[in-house]
Amino acid sequence: MDSKILIVEDEQSVVNLLRKGLEPEGFQVIAAYNGQAGLRAVTEARPDLLILDLTLPGLDGFELCRRIRKQPETARLPILVLSGRAEEVDKVVMLELGADDYVTKPFSPKELVARVKTLLRRVSTPALPQVLRVGTLEVDLDRYTVHVAGQPTSLTAKEFELLKALLEARERTLNRAFLLEQVWQYGEELEIETRTVDVHIRSLRKKLGSEGARIITVRNVGYRLDATSPPVNPAP
Ligand code: CA
Repeated sequence: MDSKILIVEDEQSVVNLLRKGLEPEGFQVIAAYNGQAGLRAVTEARPDLLILDLTLPGLDGFELCRRIRKQPETARLPILVLSGRAEEVDKVVMLELGADDYVTKPFSPKELVARVKTLLRRVSTPALPQVLRVGTLEVDLDRYTVHVAGQPTSLTAKEFELLKALLEARERTLNRAFLLEQVWQYGEELEIETRTVDVHIRSLRKKLGSEGARIITVRNVGYRLDATSPPVNPAP
């Protein structure tokens, strides 16, 4: 993977932190430290993705976002916004701005890298496969149906979304906080704890029967879906 990531952020320490997370993953990282330089870099360096801080000297992140979306040649550039606690922006505002995703500071570099990868994958595969298959597990994203070894399995909406997130992560470990955000969405049911994820995973495993063992618990982190092993045979 040699995607080029542009970071527009005036805080050197944040740029360094992002670099540390992204470069070992094979990303080429460039940085601009104010809005004007950022806008120039977007058109000149043609990055594959932009990580954009909202509070910048001069041209701020909001304005930069708008301008990027207005230019046809950059209108489709994936934008991940970094927002500080002070300017906490809700998802609606972000979507109006034209950002694809956002992360609130302080953020976990690992999670941010995961979000970057997800965004890049989304743009590189515009037509996602409608049916995801692993072993005898078959998930139809259009019809919201799940089959295990040809037999229909009935999942709740949350279980379905969890399974979808795990399948789409392609064996990457997803932490509980990430799953909470993906499946339970921002702002919804604020009292939900990470334990909720565990409860749903347990139920999901049970419902998936012989394929349930594919959902691997990664101690102190979260879960991943093992797509490589052959289907687990029931013990003789
Ligand atoms: Ca800033």
